[in-house]
Amino acid sequence: MIEKIEVFLFKHLPKNVHMDDDEKYLYLASFLAITFAASMNFFLLLFHLIAGVMPLFLISLYGLLVDLWFIKLINRRNYLAFGILLSMNVILHALATAFYIGTDNFVIVYLLVTLMMQVIIPYASVRVRILMSAVLWAGMVAMVLINHYVTPCMDIGDANSTLAFFNVHLAFFGTIIQLTLGGLVRNVIAKSNKEKLEKSKTEANTDPLTGLLNRRFASSFFKKLIAGQLEQVWCIAMLDIDDFKLINDIHGHKVGDRVLILISDFIKATLRRSDIVFRWGGEEFLILLKDVDIDTAFNTLDKLRSKLESANLEAHDTILNVTVTIGVCPLDINNIEQSIDKSDRLMYKGKVSGKNMVVM
Ligand code: GH3
Ligand code: MG
Ligand code: MG
Repeated sequence: MIEKIEVFLFKHLPKNVHMDDDEKYLYLASFLAITFAASMNFFLLLFHLIAGVMPLFLISLYGLLVDLWFIKLINRRNYLAFGILLSMNVILHALATAFYIGTDNFVIVYLLVTLMMQVIIPYASVRVRILMSAVLWAGMVAMVLINHYVTPCMDIGDANSTLAFFNVHLAFFGTIIQLTLGGLVRNVIAKSNKEKLEKSKTEANTDPLTGLLNRRFASSFFKKLIAGQLEQVWCIAMLDIDDFKLINDIHGHKVGDRVLILISDFIKATLRRSDIVFRWGGEEFLILLKDVDIDTAFNTLDKLRSKLESANLEAHDTILNVTVTIGVCPLDINNIEQSIDKSDRLMYKGKVSGKNMVVM
């Protein structure tokens, strides 16, 4: 149950709006409060409809509609108006109920639950909330006086005890929700912060165009590799798209970008999940093939090359035939820079020998 509420709140946390943790707390606490208030109003609306208490039915209907509008206020981050108006609404509802059908249905608990809200939800300055607490206190006193001096307009008979039963539960759950709200909301905030941190880490490590790992991630990856934290048998390859400048010149940069994406996807789909592909430069990709000897690496990459040669790439309605040249060598874990240079030199060797080939 708690988890479900957490998931519900998490989904409601605005994604593209900057909020610090305090505001996230306020936002979620307000959201929870309004969800609770609207559910209670809905129930009261049904109750008064069935019991035939039309004035209170209309007040509940009004309350429900206003609650829905309060959600807008919260989304606009107008917490002050939300807090004051919600509290005033509850006072209005409680007094109207007391006048119309009396107070022995424990309608006073609405005011107690709202009083608790003044302490728990920091929707306004302390001064404003103290003021609102005083108004609630006056409402409670008024209710005692109404009980003493005013004869209710209507006697709803046995329905009164049903209402009392509902009101006691409203107070019970209203109290529990508010008292546990702190921990609940903090959990949701912690989860959302963690997700954001992970997202920004991923963004920092990936190339925005192709979604491949970037050069920045490569250096931390190689550090881990050197420290022996990762398996150590790899071949390394430099792949460069042939005549890519021509593609840009003839078809435009947009098509060029699309080709980069298509080729990245092609490489990822052709290699194994354990192989690692970095976007190394503009149209250059560094590939690490795991647990293979140089012959296997050569064969794998040559298959990739010939598959690409015979593929038709569709980039923004332009059908293109793109080839690549690849240099590949074993990765020397103690001389990573040299291994990268060597794969680069082998790739250039392929370029001067006519392109569209793998050189080892
Ligand atoms: P070669 O076969 O010798 O590799 O020739 P090339 O034309 O592929 O190589 P060159 O180095 O002359 O040109 C690479 C081009 O790649 C130039 C540059 O404008 C383009 N390029 C680099 N990054 C991007 C990018 O992100 N998007 C697009 N559309 N083009 C890019
Ligand atoms: Mg290049
Ligand atoms: Mg090129």
